[in-house]
Amino acid sequence: MQRANSSRKRSRRSAAESAIFYLKEVFENNLFVDEKLSNSAASQIKAISKRHSIPLDSITNDLICRGCLNILTPGSNSRIRIVNRMLRVTCIKCGKIRRKPLFRT
Ligand SMILES: [Zn+2]
Repeated sequence: MQRANSSRKRSRRSAAESAIFYLKEVFENNLFVDEKLSNSAASQIKAISKRHSIPLDSITNDLICRGCLNILTPGSNSRIRIVNRMLRVTCIKCGKIRRKPLFRT
């Protein structure tokens, strides 16, 4: 019983991982082409990674707003400023601010 359960869990996780891989391709290919499609892919990626606790790579993670789950395109719907040696990315749609250290000394 235990074994069947863990193998089911493994296949569920690998299915989720392949779904994320596919959605990432959709997301990256339509980044500057179809905003609606890439926004939809972004929110799906976030939902799947949260549900199955699969960590995202930092590039994909930085491109998705944590507030409204849309893509952050610098110059169109996000503002990037450097304040106190921190990178500050503001989502213009929902106002969510994300800070990231620029230098680690
Ligand atoms: Zn947002």
